Amino acid sequence: MARYTGPVCRLCRREGVKLYLKGERCFSDKCAIDRRPFPPGQHGQGRKRTSEYGLQLREKQKARRYYGVLEKQFEAYYDEAARRQGVTGENLLQILESRLDNVVYRLGFAASRAEARQLVRHGHFLVNGRRVDIPSYLTKPGDVIQIREKSQQLERIKVLLESAESRTIPAWLELDLANKQGRVVRLPARDEIDTPVAEQLIVEHYSR
Ligand code: SF4
Repeated sequence: MARYTGPVCRLCRREGVKLYLKGERCFSDKCAIDRRPFPPGQHGQGRKRTSEYGLQLREKQKARRYYGVLEKQFEAYYDEAARRQGVTGENLLQILESRLDNVVYRLGFAASRAEARQLVRHGHFLVNGRRVDIPSYLTKPGDVIQIREKSQQLERIKVLLESAESRTIPAWLELDLANKQGRVVRLPARDEIDTPVAEQLIVEHYSR
């Protein structure tokens, strides 16, 4: 599946919020949105027009970029969310949260979703004992995500595991650092998802 490969800090500047796409750098004083808190481009500091459509579009783009998902796949997630029982916006966020790259990031096994995606792609993780190298793989309650034994010896993984100790893990996940693994306990409730998006605007965008 394709992914966005352009400069990522401009995505944060476009959306006007930190999307935490660059790992440690996002928490340093090198963060681009702290230095230049206005949209990128020649007219970035010009007049802002915010129509209803514009607001809905920006919210959708923000969510897409936050999780590193391209348009077509995001639309497919929306269709699936609308098919499921319950509130469509919340279903959409649940689907996005259950992506394997997001779960790896939330467990603290990667510094950003982009890094999680790359680590998954390179085959460093097992899901229920089987190697899964598809970042968009949707995990389910009960799934156990483990770092492959061979991969545990990699310097980068060791550094990540050290910093994982101090990370706050959401209640819907369980971390077992001793065994270098985590478990999806259940799907997250809306108040357990800290994604800075108003999902209702995304639903309105697709319901037009
Ligand atoms: Fe966004 Fe991180 Fe870049 Fe800051 S450093 S603009 S939070 S990607």
